[in-house]
Amino acid sequence: MFRVKPVLIVLALVLLAYTSADAFHAEILPAEINPGDAFLVKVTGSPGEPLAVSDNGRLYFENCGDSCYIAVGAVDVRTEPGVYEIVVSNGENKKRLELHVRHIEFPVRRLTLPEDKVTLSSENLKRVEKEKARLSLIWGKVSDRLWDGKFIMPLENSISAGFGIKRIMNRKKESIHRGIDIRGKNGEAVKAANTGRVVLAEELFFGGNTVIIDHGQGIYTVYMHLSKFNVTYGEIVSKGDIIGFVGSTGRATGPHLHFGVKVTAVNVNPVSFTRLPF
Ligand SMILES: [Zn+2]
Repeated sequence: MFRVKPVLIVLALVLLAYTSADAFHAEILPAEINPGDAFLVKVTGSPGEPLAVSDNGRLYFENCGDSCYIAVGAVDVRTEPGVYEIVVSNGENKKRLELHVRHIEFPVRRLTLPEDKVTLSSENLKRVEKEKARLSLIWGKVSDRLWDGKFIMPLENSISAGFGIKRIMNRKKESIHRGIDIRGKNGEAVKAANTGRVVLAEELFFGGNTVIIDHGQGIYTVYMHLSKFNVTYGEIVSKGDIIGFVGSTGRATGPHLHFGVKVTAVNVNPVSFTRLPF
């Protein structure tokens, strides 16, 4: 009589276990977004850290429990509407996820600002270029994760200028608003949106007194036009800590907080970001 050797049965079971462990589940949350929104890629049942690639490059995964991995992604505000592919792989296994980007008409707003903040002198132009170069060095760095759970709004007031609006300044210069303006009184406390390290706390030409927090995993939050700082460079802050106070320094028409979020160097809508189901 034919008999299967026990060693073969064990081998077959090991192979079966390996194959089923390798079949992971991956999804995009939410699967339909506006240009400039953030999204999550959640992978479960993955035996090791997966790899995900979008049109913008690699996504950075973090462990979220037993064989669970989560990554934050974003699309630029100028992204054309359509379906974009995100490929998640784990060894031999590959999953193609669809990210739907809606068509949105962002509103246009006309603003009047001090002329020297719109048409720059050669000296100011040099300063702005220098600041831009410094900031792009900051966005390029991906540190270890310090953030924990949902991000909060730094100031709980209404929004006076939303993300993505096209601003026409002094009837000549156009710029897309890549953050949100939150109403606030001079001196009102501004909180850290999550735990992170202060990587900038100084006066910039457009941003005025600006704080930038590095939360790790390529996520940064930006707080502009502050009247006063309450943190210094290098400091670790916890979610909800007071980092500064509302003001109107830099290119501002009055006291308010400009709040920005960067995800792997892409400006994302902070409202979409704080709603992500972490
Ligand atoms: Zn703003």
